[in-house]
Amino acid sequence: MKKLFSAVSILVALTACKTIDNVTTIPTLEVNTPTSVDLPKNIIMVIADGMGPAYTTSYRYFNDDPSTELIEETVFDRLLVGSSSTYPARISGFVTDSAASATALSTGYKTYNGAIGLDVNKNSVETVLEFAKKQGKKTGVVVTSQINHATPASYLAHNESRRNYNAIADSYLDNGIKANVYMGGGWQYFIREDRNLVDEFKAAGFQYIDNYKSLNNLKENTPTIGLFGDTGLPYAIDDKDPQRLLTMTKAAIKQLENKNGYFMLVEASQVDWAGHSNDITTAMAEMSDLAVTMEYLEEYVKENPDTLIILTADHSTGGLTIGAHGKYEWHPEILRTMKRSPITSAKILSNQKITQQRLSELLNFTVTQNETQQVQLAKINAIEEISAYKRLNEKMKLKTIKPNISNIISVAIKKIIDIRTNTGWTSGGHTAIDVPVHALGKSSELFTGNIDNTDIAKQIFLLLGQK
Ligand code: MG
Ligand code: ZN
Repeated sequence: MKKLFSAVSILVALTACKTIDNVTTIPTLEVNTPTSVDLPKNIIMVIADGMGPAYTTSYRYFNDDPSTELIEETVFDRLLVGSSSTYPARISGFVTDSAASATALSTGYKTYNGAIGLDVNKNSVETVLEFAKKQGKKTGVVVTSQINHATPASYLAHNESRRNYNAIADSYLDNGIKANVYMGGGWQYFIREDRNLVDEFKAAGFQYIDNYKSLNNLKENTPTIGLFGDTGLPYAIDDKDPQRLLTMTKAAIKQLENKNGYFMLVEASQVDWAGHSNDITTAMAEMSDLAVTMEYLEEYVKENPDTLIILTADHSTGGLTIGAHGKYEWHPEILRTMKRSPITSAKILSNQKITQQRLSELLNFTVTQNETQQVQLAKINAIEEISAYKRLNEKMKLKTIKPNISNIISVAIKKIIDIRTNTGWTSGGHTAIDVPVHALGKSSELFTGNIDNTDIAKQIFLLLGQK
């Protein structure tokens, strides 16, 4: 069995530096440094994009069985081991974006917001996925965004901007194929007029699937690319498979298991998207998909104790508040029965007459006459805003964002839900609060306590056998 001795000498070296030179830099490896630890065979890094502590906490109350006195413990409660700071490189202040934070988690380097796998000077830095491959492990990425979105890209690519979607997608082939399994969305970027990357993956020996059903009939031991959406996948609450993260994760593990082990990135990408749109209904459904995935991984580790699982977030999103406006209450009940996202209900209502009955049907709870009027009013305002936009001259049109009727109706629906649940939001963007860290399995004790996102990459490098 391989033992990890190298970490001991690194610790000694760092400690020595500190005492001799009286330098105030903090050696990040001082906390939780492995002394002689078995290297895990498999490492599964789970990132829940945007999942600050308010998300795991609200999920606990959302998940609570109201018929018992007890507040039931969730998988997030069970696996919590500490917290992590998320700030980017100094040049980008304190509030990180997903690219900088994922790069910190994948490489151990703080960088500027927007950077993919580069340090702050725009030098490429090796990612744990790339290193795992070099060490002879299989690698995979399973995400609910497009597979070239900031988080997965930060493990697979090096680019000065997360917005260079096509270039990042191209690099998945042009810079050498780095993963054995890719699952998520992205037809728009991988099947283009100028280049069909899916065909190129097939030519390189990959099997390609484009629907969840085919996940059950994959050829074994064959590199796999599964794309299931134009950009990201549908929201869990709206998707044919509301547990699509779990479904993909199970299929990916089957493909990745081998005698040398594997490194896999799993991302619950859309907790963040729900947060950006201040949508608690959709956020709880994304958290449910993540929870069942983590419960599955919990069982997996029981049968495969040589596997390490880490779950953290890259940052929090939306400034979610559980109990707003000075009222000591939060009421998740309606969230448990809703069957579609507010934006989906809004799209339906943009083409239909809004009545109390129809709105109640779509939201799956009985709305009041007053609430119905608010949604009706939003639609009237939206139609007025659109005709005002149409009256603008071409020059002004270019400067103005075209009003979207579904978005405007959906804001009114989300407001009803926020008032009923007493949910609050302070931002349409990210916030800089520390995020939870959860871990289980072999060497999971290395991630306990209050750490930094870069520590997570540094520990994974050591656990992959970095000398
Ligand atoms: Mg992401
Ligand atoms: Zn975000």
